[in-house]
Amino acid sequence: MTMAAGTRGDEDLSVMMVAAEAVPFAKVGGLADVIGALPASLREAGIRVSVFLPFYREIRKKGFDPTPTGSRFSLLHDGIDRECRILHAERDGVSFFFLDEPDFFDREWVYGPPGGEYPDSALRFSFFCRSCLAAAEKMGLEVDLIHCHDWHAALVPLYLKFAEVSTLQAKIPSLLTIHNLAYQGRFDPGLFPSLGLGREALDGGYLELWGSLNFLKGGILTADAVSTVSPAYAEEITTPEQGMGMDPLLGEKGVRGILNGIDFGLWNPETDPHLAVNYSSADPSGKTANLKALREELGLDPLPEAPLFAFIGRLVHQKGADVIAGGMDEIIRRGFQFVVLGSGERQVEESLLSGAARHRKMAFARIGFDDELARKIYASADFFLMPSRFEPCGLGQMIAMRYGCIPVVRATGGLRDTVTDLGSDPERGNGFAFEGDTVQGLLEALDRAAGFFREGRAGGVLPRIMAQDNSWGHSAEAYARFYREIIEGKKGEAGR
Ligand code: ADP
Repeated sequence: MTMAAGTRGDEDLSVMMVAAEAVPFAKVGGLADVIGALPASLREAGIRVSVFLPFYREIRKKGFDPTPTGSRFSLLHDGIDRECRILHAERDGVSFFFLDEPDFFDREWVYGPPGGEYPDSALRFSFFCRSCLAAAEKMGLEVDLIHCHDWHAALVPLYLKFAEVSTLQAKIPSLLTIHNLAYQGRFDPGLFPSLGLGREALDGGYLELWGSLNFLKGGILTADAVSTVSPAYAEEITTPEQGMGMDPLLGEKGVRGILNGIDFGLWNPETDPHLAVNYSSADPSGKTANLKALREELGLDPLPEAPLFAFIGRLVHQKGADVIAGGMDEIIRRGFQFVVLGSGERQVEESLLSGAARHRKMAFARIGFDDELARKIYASADFFLMPSRFEPCGLGQMIAMRYGCIPVVRATGGLRDTVTDLGSDPERGNGFAFEGDTVQGLLEALDRAAGFFREGRAGGVLPRIMAQDNSWGHSAEAYARFYREIIEGKKGEAGR
């Protein structure tokens, strides 16, 4: 096969992206949204991207049938000689390469059953990192920079530094992006000999943290640069409060914050086929018909004076889901309506379900993942709640704005960067922000939002909020500039 990705087109940089998930092939969380959208936007910024993914069973089950490239290789990993085929698919001008090693990846789940992880995660993803390099080498892919995402890809720069790779590969600059510092890839140190890394990686202290192998630490120390998904989170993770043990390393290394965007094609109230009525920022009045339809569908009273607050997301401590559950009775007592969609911690799920049952016709809770219902909620609700304890970037608030649902958020991480309080800045404000993680703090913010709603001011700001540009364009340009900086920096190092 002639490798389209191995030859340069009009674009002037070739970037290899290594990640564990990408929309539409395999999605577990927000990382997949980023890898699904950023490469196509980078192409518009003059960068050709080849994305490398494991070939999970889920990809085939979804009906994708990538083409075998004819290239294959074998790698001795954990004492087993593993054969790996390389498959290829092209989408929106982006090359996707899939590493097909059935023993590791032809399994029911991407990471493991819900709430769990396969016991051989360290072996699966270390193999994945090694294979990406082996595949690129085998195909003769020209690469100017390798962009690795999260702990699953964090060993790539270690393999470049401490394993047998070609001298050409060893010189390729690398960027590691942290999408959520809470997930670090921690494993038993006894696994080290299975990883196929030179002994110096361990002896040099590149991998060990608090008695565990820590893949993310390895990536932070050996990548040429590190970034995360918002400027505020970049700052926060260099502090002991939010640094999760990595703050000294991150402080020393320096972390660039580049905000995520949302895919404006996938999230568009003008064309969304799941809405009762489509509408646009020029005329958001279609929200009323959507609200009416949603209330009917969910059995909520059609009360025009009751603002509808919504929460969609993982029901976990990070997202402040427990704070929402704790405030539910008070929310309803104030005459507000409330809808929640999500899944996560069992106790929070149960508390939300029983709260909704206590307040039938005013509150509704659905446990599970439901993209269609999520879209109807974004299109109907007046306000979107994100009381996150920490939030690397957050997509929910940006989707909400696009659908004319005003965000009410805790001022942290990416929420701090994307939401300006309407109370303190009525001209440029686009939501309500509060501090702390108490039910009281949340309720005070909801009261302010409800006041705004009842004074009839919400409609006036919606066209402006909906028209805000949170698409990927700006972020792709920021990444493109950062790539060039890193490449220049590496050349400078080599020249010294
Ligand atoms: P996370 O930390 O989970 O990645 P984000 O705010 O960055 O949080 O992204 C969450 C994305 O997943 C949003 O697009 C949101 O609409 C969607 N989502 C989360 N939970 C659900 C659910 N239960 N049903 C439908 N969509 C959901």
